[in-house]
Amino acid sequence: MIDKPILFNMTNTELEQFVVSIGQPKFRAKQISEWLSRGAPDFSVMKNLPEILRNDLDKVARTMPCTIIKKLESTDNQTTKFLLEMLDGEQIESVLMRTSYGNSVCVSSQAGCAMGCKFCASTLLGLKRNLSINEMFAQVLVAQWELRGDKDKKNIKPNGDPKNSDVSHIVVMGTGEPLQNTENLIGFLERANNDLGIGWRRITVSTCGIVPGIKELNAWGYPINLAISLHAPNDELRSKLMPVNNKYKISDVLDASFEFVTKNNRQLMIEYILLAGTNDSIENAEELSKLLTSKNCMVNLIPWNTVDEREFISPSGNAVHRFQDILIKNGIHTRIRRERGQDIGSACGQLRLNNKKD
Ligand code: SF4
Repeated sequence: MIDKPILFNMTNTELEQFVVSIGQPKFRAKQISEWLSRGAPDFSVMKNLPEILRNDLDKVARTMPCTIIKKLESTDNQTTKFLLEMLDGEQIESVLMRTSYGNSVCVSSQAGCAMGCKFCASTLLGLKRNLSINEMFAQVLVAQWELRGDKDKKNIKPNGDPKNSDVSHIVVMGTGEPLQNTENLIGFLERANNDLGIGWRRITVSTCGIVPGIKELNAWGYPINLAISLHAPNDELRSKLMPVNNKYKISDVLDASFEFVTKNNRQLMIEYILLAGTNDSIENAEELSKLLTSKNCMVNLIPWNTVDEREFISPSGNAVHRFQDILIKNGIHTRIRRERGQDIGSACGQLRLNNKKD
């Protein structure tokens, strides 16, 4: 229930008006704002405020538009998965990945998803609602606060560089189809760029192929990275796996996508989840090669992460390498996506789904 104002959602002027309304001097707004921009989860951590004020604030306001209800850490300490609850009770996932190139946050854009991809856990409960700009931005700040804690943990060295403890990359690749929530997506990306200085080239949006949404991003004009969830080399198979393909065919999706990356001088990311016996044959690899030959793209092969409610099978290591070898032989840039956080249930949407069943 939304019963208290959320300070995180306020502009600087609104925050000043709020602190004055509770009998505090204006400068408190700046102190609070600095804590909020670091992702402070509650008022108790705001140590430069008097204790009595922290307690009073706790009674009349909230810091963030969400709370962490579960946090899972991979055994290698490089991946942290959060289950967050919004104020209306909707739950979403976000993931912090500490990598050699920086700290990346995988952000959800919707609570649930309407797209119905057959291999995906996120869509099993349908779409609940779009996330707001603030709810997407909060996911980044939750990760930012977590990274702050890393400095105190001797067993974690983010990026091998203890000074580099900020979120540096954003991938909108969590639950939901971001181009079904384009207006808020753009607002979120602009806020991440403005407030946190995250460069456009360090931001990636992944879509299942909503052609008007790709065109809208193109018209918006900022040079972010684009990833397309392809998962099949022809329309017949793709339509069976991804109902969106009945509306937007592969050729239309690729045309709009290559137009976007060409304009922005980027390389298109092609996501391809390998499902044993479904889309991982030699013929599938050859067909995918033909589709992408001479195109400026990188194929990310993703061995399927088991989702209990789905009947697909993960491919063997041999099948994954055979598929990759064929693409490489045909001149297609290809890599196998390192599976992060296997031990914490890294299939997108699985944590949220399991929590609903508990
Ligand atoms: S893969 Fe993406 S678009 Fe498809 S159902 Fe899952 S979250 Fe939605």
